[in-house]
Amino acid sequence: MKSIPFVIIFSFALLTNCNDYSSQTQESTSTTQTEVSQSQIIDLTHEFSDETIYWVTAKEFELDTVYKGETDKGFYYSAYNFATAEHGGTHIDAPIHFSKNGQTVDEIPLEHLIGNAIKIDVSSKAINNPDYQISIDDFLNWEHKHGSIPNGSIVLLQTGFSKYYPDKKKYLGTDKRGEAALKHLRFPGLSHEAANWLVNNRSIHAIGIDTPSIDHGQSQYFKSHIKLLERNIPAFENVTNLNKLPQKGFKIIALPMKIKGGSGAPLRIIAILDN
Ligand SMILES: [Zn+2]
Repeated sequence: MKSIPFVIIFSFALLTNCNDYSSQTQESTSTTQTEVSQSQIIDLTHEFSDETIYWVTAKEFELDTVYKGETDKGFYYSAYNFATAEHGGTHIDAPIHFSKNGQTVDEIPLEHLIGNAIKIDVSSKAINNPDYQISIDDFLNWEHKHGSIPNGSIVLLQTGFSKYYPDKKKYLGTDKRGEAALKHLRFPGLSHEAANWLVNNRSIHAIGIDTPSIDHGQSQYFKSHIKLLERNIPAFENVTNLNKLPQKGFKIIALPMKIKGGSGAPLRIIAILDN
């Protein structure tokens, strides 16, 4: 595979003397360069298209062509309008989604969306059990092997369900839509006991899952959402490719559309494997 390394440059300018620009740039600036190869980058995002899976009561993705083709001036041109609900496809739940005083999507601190991450893999238990709820023991088992979940981690939960995407019957439990379809939703999620344990015993920056919701499909009260979001811990939903990640030793960059006042937004989420 062709590998095109690119360079991320972090410049830490230690500016101490505002009167002498030349001495600042020569003496007080240190630069760290980190090369990231293509093979280290894993896209955890589903495409937005006609097939994108939305919550059964949300409007689905729309893409209208403004223009596509050769113009009378001889150049090619294409442009589209799109429309989307906040909560569909790969997206983020901002804290205000279930917490009145929580952060809106534009207010989530970027350091909660970028940083070291871990993965809890429960796919062997969840893939054939759409009612599976990730337990405290699943976290303790991970910690038994890898040590305590580091402070500030982004925690990703792998149920294996993304392999069913975009088959709505298998992924959501139903291909029906509207209020009447809600009772047919069946997919794994995070138990509210485990959500409670996480927020009270560990200090994480964000959480993500490869199903449509952090609460399991049959949830009526969305207790895991509430527990996490009221602590300003955002949730990434409908993520994919978690099977390509190790249990630890990678970073996440998860940048949602910056909708002012939004309760969520489409999300581009990638992982960068440590060297
Ligand atoms: Zn959501």
